[in-house]
Amino acid sequence: MTRPHIAVLGSINMDLVAYVAKAPQRGETVTGREFRTLPGGKGANQAVAAARAGATVSMIGAVGNDTFGTQLRSALDHSGVDTDLLRTVEGPSGTAHIVVDDDGGNAIVVIPGANDTLTTLSPGDTAEIASAAALLLQLEIPMEGVLAAAQAARAAGVRTILTPAPARPLPPELLAATDLLLPNEHEAAALTGLPDPADAARALLDQVPEVVVTLGAAGSLYVARGAEPVTVPARRVTAVDTTGAGDTFAGALAVALCEGNYLPQAASWASAASALSVQRPGAAASMPYRTEIDTEAG
Ligand code: ATP
Repeated sequence: MTRPHIAVLGSINMDLVAYVAKAPQRGETVTGREFRTLPGGKGANQAVAAARAGATVSMIGAVGNDTFGTQLRSALDHSGVDTDLLRTVEGPSGTAHIVVDDDGGNAIVVIPGANDTLTTLSPGDTAEIASAAALLLQLEIPMEGVLAAAQAARAAGVRTILTPAPARPLPPELLAATDLLLPNEHEAAALTGLPDPADAARALLDQVPEVVVTLGAAGSLYVARGAEPVTVPARRVTAVDTTGAGDTFAGALAVALCEGNYLPQAASWASAASALSVQRPGAAASMPYRTEIDTEAG
C-alpha cells in the first residue's frame, strides 16, 4: 500500500525534565534525582507518531538558532519526518520545563520561543498542505498560524484534524475549516462548559461535522452529525507513563483515516497505538511502529 502523506503544523519544544521525590513549594529548593532533555511539543510528537504509524510526514514549524534547535531538527530527521519546511529563526527554541514527582504528578512551564513566530504560511507551506491527505493541528503556536493552515487545507480539500490543546477559545473561522475535532475530556469540557464528554461532543457538533473525545483509560467517544455516538474502548494494559498518549492517538488516527478506514475503526487502531505507548516511558520515545500497532490491533 502507498504510504499516505500527512502535513503537521505545530510546536516543537525541548522538554527539560527534572525528576524529584516531591516538587518544591514556592521559595523552596529541593535536590532532584535525575534530569533529562527530551524532544517534545505537540506538533513534533504528532508528526513522529504519524511517521511511525506508516505515513510520510512533513513538519511545518520553527526552531531557534540555539543548540536545542539543532537537536530538535535532527531528532525529527531521525524519526523519518521531513524537515525541509522547518524554519530556523533568530532566538531560542521552544522549551517546556517539567517537574515530575514520585506520585507521577507534574508541573510544567512552557516558553514558546521560536514557536511564537508561526503566524503566517510561506508559499511552500501552503503547497505542502495542499499536497497532503490530512493536516494535523494543535494549539501550541499562534492562532493566526493555525487558522491560516486550516483555511489552506480547506481550500485544497484536505482533511483537517485539530487537537484543541492547550484548550482556549476557538474562533468560529477555525471551526468552520475543521473536519475533525479531537479534544480530550478536559478540553471538551473547557470548550463547552459541559462536564459530560457525550454532552460536550454533541454540543461541538454544531460547529464541526465530527468529534472524537479521548477519555484516557476509558477509551474514546466518536460522534458525528446524524449518527449515534460510538464508544471505542481502550486496551486493558498497565500504564507506566501516559505522556504523549493523546499525540500517539492523533498521529495513528490520521494514518488510519487516510488509508480509508471509517472513524470508529480508525479510533480502534489508534487506541492500539496509544496502548503500546502508555506501557513505555517517554512521549515520542514511547511511540510504536506500524508493525507493532498492526500486531496489537489484531
Ligand atoms: P496526553 O495529554 O497525556 O498526551 P491526552 O489527555 O491527550 O493525553 P488521553 O485521553 O489520556 O489523551 O489518551 C488518548 C488515548 O490513549 C485514549 O483514548 C486511549 O485509547 C489511550 N490511553 C490513554 N491512557 C490509557 C491507559 N491507561 N490504558 C490504555 N490506553 C490508554
